[in-house]
Amino acid sequence: MSNGVGIWRCVGCKTAVFPQRLLCPHCHGEKFEPDRVSEGVVEEVSVIRHMIGQTDWKPRRIANVRTAGGPFLTVGLRDESGPGTVIDLFEEEGAPYGKARAGG
Ligand SMILES: [Zn+2]
Repeated sequence: MSNGVGIWRCVGCKTAVFPQRLLCPHCHGEKFEPDRVSEGVVEEVSVIRHMIGQTDWKPRRIANVRTAGGPFLTVGLRDESGPGTVIDLFEEEGAPYGKARAGG
């Protein structure tokens, strides 16, 4: 488990993007450097109840998360966090996840 989720940040104007783009949406710069965001606020939660081709699929909760000064991310939820909850972001096996911040 690693702390935070990888995003990309424009070298020129520091605008954060995810996924990586060819050009910065703000200054049209072409250079990005990897950065990480470690928290966000849940905007919307959806549940994926079925997956085509998967017979042993368990319902999964997916959150659309607004990161501080950064882009929106779609992450898997590891708890019952709902809209408005501040969650910690982390990666497991390369996939982004979130869960409610410990202690509040
Ligand atoms: Zn830029």
